[in-house]
Amino acid sequence: MTLMSSQFQPVLERIAAEIERTPDRGRPADYIPALAACDPRTFGMAVAELDGTVYGVGDWREPFSTQSITKVFTLALDLAREGDELWEHVGREPSGNPFNSLVQLEYENGIPRNPFINAGALVVTDRLHSRTGDAAGELLSFLREESGNPALAFDEEVAASEAAHGDRNAALAHFMAAYGNIDNDIPVLLDQYFRQCSLRASCADLALATTFLARHGIRADGNRLLTLSQAKQINAIMLTCGTYDAAGDFAYRVGLPGKSGVGGGIIAVVPGRCTLCVWSPGLDERGNSVAGVAALDRFTTLTGVSVF
Ligand code: GLU
Repeated sequence: MTLMSSQFQPVLERIAAEIERTPDRGRPADYIPALAACDPRTFGMAVAELDGTVYGVGDWREPFSTQSITKVFTLALDLAREGDELWEHVGREPSGNPFNSLVQLEYENGIPRNPFINAGALVVTDRLHSRTGDAAGELLSFLREESGNPALAFDEEVAASEAAHGDRNAALAHFMAAYGNIDNDIPVLLDQYFRQCSLRASCADLALATTFLARHGIRADGNRLLTLSQAKQINAIMLTCGTYDAAGDFAYRVGLPGKSGVGGGIIAVVPGRCTLCVWSPGLDERGNSVAGVAALDRFTTLTGVSVF
């Protein structure tokens, strides 16, 4: 079945009603107080079409902590600037290790497996910062423009809390610096990275901001950010590496490129068609939103829309 766009809204409502009846919603991330305090029963979902029409249900206009979802946007912004040279500094393979793991770096000369584990995201932010002088600022302006929401902002309290619990990210950055794979001073890089992770945005904002990937690299204003190949590459890396070490299961269940964050958000792309963003703060043991994955699974099952 191929769905007409006007049928998105009833599908979203049906999914929200099903999720409402699901007792187990997982547990919010607890490594910083701001995330631990979130209610796991919160649920929002949005679908954005390529012309900027957005459909939504539940808490879809409520801003939440985007966390690792921002790794997709910094990757796009850096890849657009430096092209293939980036791949000399970060790989494109699933890691098979937890997102904040150190072990693989030692065997692979400080080159992280992919841009969506923390080590890889630190490299991307470092390189974007070297090119722009303000990686977090670049990210914020890009997201404001693509979402059409000038109120998007970093959450300085979350950023400070990330910094206070940031020993592991600091270790990753120092370790890669020892291999010559980090340019900036580590405190500068960590400040940029923690602010990036702290960005608050809603499902509507993120679904809209992701449409450039469904438009094969074309931004909301019609200008090209990425080449066709680069847009394809990012979608492919989202499919293979975007949902921590559960990307195989996510591809199996959902069948779309996606990227999750520990705030409980997940973005997903249907190339040429639409984007989705879902948010529910309760996570499974791999760090993906329980209701979020279930809702995306239901969306592709009910609509027949997937990349397969
Ligand atoms: N700020 C988190 C960290 O770097 C991001 C975690 C995530 O969403 O994967 O540890």
